[in-house]
Amino acid sequence: MAADPRFDILFEPVQIGPKTLRNRFYQVPHCTGFGVEKPWSQAAHRAVKAEGGWAAVCTEYCTVSSDADETPYISARMWDDHDLRHLAVLTEAVHAHGALAGIELSHSGAHGENCETRLPPPAPSQIASDFSNITPKRMEKLDIDRIVSDWVQAAIRSRNGGFDIVYVYGGHSYLLGQMLSPFYNQRTDEYGGSLENRARMWIETLAAVRDAVGSDCAIACRMAVSAAGGPGVELDEGLEFVRMADHLVDLWDVHIGSILEWSKDSGASRFFAEGWQLEWTGHVREATAKPIVGVGRLTTPERMAEIIESGVWDLIGAARPNIADPFIPEKIREGRYADIRACIGCNMCVSKGDVRRHIGCTQNATAGEEHRRGWHPERFDRAANADRDVLIVGAGPAGMECAIVLGRRGMRRVRLVDAADEPGGLTRWVPRLPGLAEWDRLRTWRLGQLAQLPNVEIETGVRMDAAAVRAAGADLVVIATGAAWAGDGRNGVTRGAIPGADASLAHVLTPEQIMLDGKRPPGSRAIVLDCEGYFMGAGMAELLRGQGHEVELVTSCEKVAPLCDETLEGPILRRHLHDLGIGMRAEAWLTRIGAGGADGETELGDTFAVEADAFVLVTQRVSDEALYLELAAAGMDGVYRIGDCVAPRLIADAIWDGHRLGREIDSPDPARPLPHLRERPGLDADPLTAVR
Ligand code: ADP
Ligand code: SF4
Repeated sequence: MAADPRFDILFEPVQIGPKTLRNRFYQVPHCTGFGVEKPWSQAAHRAVKAEGGWAAVCTEYCTVSSDADETPYISARMWDDHDLRHLAVLTEAVHAHGALAGIELSHSGAHGENCETRLPPPAPSQIASDFSNITPKRMEKLDIDRIVSDWVQAAIRSRNGGFDIVYVYGGHSYLLGQMLSPFYNQRTDEYGGSLENRARMWIETLAAVRDAVGSDCAIACRMAVSAAGGPGVELDEGLEFVRMADHLVDLWDVHIGSILEWSKDSGASRFFAEGWQLEWTGHVREATAKPIVGVGRLTTPERMAEIIESGVWDLIGAARPNIADPFIPEKIREGRYADIRACIGCNMCVSKGDVRRHIGCTQNATAGEEHRRGWHPERFDRAANADRDVLIVGAGPAGMECAIVLGRRGMRRVRLVDAADEPGGLTRWVPRLPGLAEWDRLRTWRLGQLAQLPNVEIETGVRMDAAAVRAAGADLVVIATGAAWAGDGRNGVTRGAIPGADASLAHVLTPEQIMLDGKRPPGSRAIVLDCEGYFMGAGMAELLRGQGHEVELVTSCEKVAPLCDETLEGPILRRHLHDLGIGMRAEAWLTRIGAGGADGETELGDTFAVEADAFVLVTQRVSDEALYLELAAAGMDGVYRIGDCVAPRLIADAIWDGHRLGREIDSPDPARPLPHLRERPGLDADPLTAVR
């Protein structure tokens, strides 16, 4: 397909200080869970983006001092030459693909938990962090000077390690942003009070870093131009700061929000439309003629070109869109627009990278696996057993992903069969839950890819039993039959089913019965019982409320949807449910369900009774494994299972599992994942002579 000349503007080079970006695609800093602890994973993850055509690829936040120790989170560090060596692996890998490497030098200030170093975190004033609830040390002038000097040392190391772009980062209410913030900065000396005083440390740091490395590296400044109601500055002061510091900056990297309200920056699609940040960051041009990069989960070339043409930004920044598809620039350049694996805005990457300490992505199974499993997002080897036919039973996310990988690996024939009228499994209906429409991209992108594979056929409306599987005569069989929400309320809290919970009764319902079978809750009062703490309980509650039911969400979790806190949706979601008039009862569960009411118990042992006409059970899912077990028991060779049919899990992990089997279908035992490369400290360095 020929590339559309409308998008040529995206491929123009941009000068930033002494460096030139080859085009306008810019990977802004984002977390991975790799830091300096997993240098090879870090390097390979960033290198793939460079290969995919991004002009610049940056690290995550990288602290400059040991009193900015981010543990329990994993950040990069540039404290000494050992860190430099680990990060230099990244610059070399990125340069090999023609991209510039950026390092987001930072200091956490009040937010740093310093769990490892046990040092008191320095901050403008002794005001507890709104994010970590740590009460910091008020910085003395000596502390300020020392941190500026640490920043310069880290910048020099960065330059020596091959970084092209050095950040003086104060975004997301980190230390320099705290200095700027009237909430965090209540000083009465020359660093507090007026905007000029609050900006002083940031400007001193910019000047010192520029003096040290400005002729070799581009100096980037990342800031929240509006804290959007959080602790920081609002747009008028944000723009004024840009004017004040402009002479020291080669690239403005702008966003909104603070670390506690990071949800407004890395906005989930449930609440934020693509490009929402432009309402604020679209004004930065009023304050500077220097290059500007912004973000907003942008995935379509039309929108990107429109933004550049409007002149508000010079560069299209991306974190999530390039995690979901590291090859967006190359695909646009080649005119392969439909192949772009567009981010769905679920923020599972945030949960996995930050809280779970190893990045992963719902859309892109290869994210985070580039080094340790050698998975490339666009390259697939021909399978050693490509002369075999494969039957995949179940076209949910796991089955579809496996079919794509096997199709690309050149298997002679891949039959993907599903009992439903259309492929997609749970991704057929989850996007119909309130706010989750963008999740439909999971299904539509996969269907688009499958349609391009001549060796893959999809059959729907065909339910396969063991006899049908045998009769199909495939050499290899993959069972991907998924899982369903339990109809008996089984759960890990009461460690069993709930007496009276029986989804064959009119007043007890499961999510699938509501979404697929058209079963309606009787009466006006519904209780959703959620023991999972993710999107389904809240989704059911909002759906039924929208249909006019009085809804109470009862959850055994410490709050409604705690997993949504990891995806930055939690606080907004709970406020949203509250505003809709949905009742919420946390740390409680039901011990008996009957027609018209239920009994329950709280974490503290108090019992309660509730009246309701209907009960929706979101307690746990149960694998649909009968077909697999029957085939395995009959001793059939070459039968494997993937996805929720093995164990119910996140969509991201079901897709990952399907991808894994496809990648390893020609391994000695495809049922058993190949060992992955682990990065761990060795014993070769003598601890007594280790560098201090
Ligand atoms: P996963 O997340 O593991 O991909 P899903 O539950 O989303 O699982 O999808 C499983 C799919 O398998 C559903 O679309 C379902 O219709 C299909 N399925 C289940 N059992 C059979 C069967 N015996 N024959 C054909 N398709 C089946
Ligand atoms: Fe986008 Fe979700 Fe992937 Fe993150 S995990 S990049 S939000 S699709």
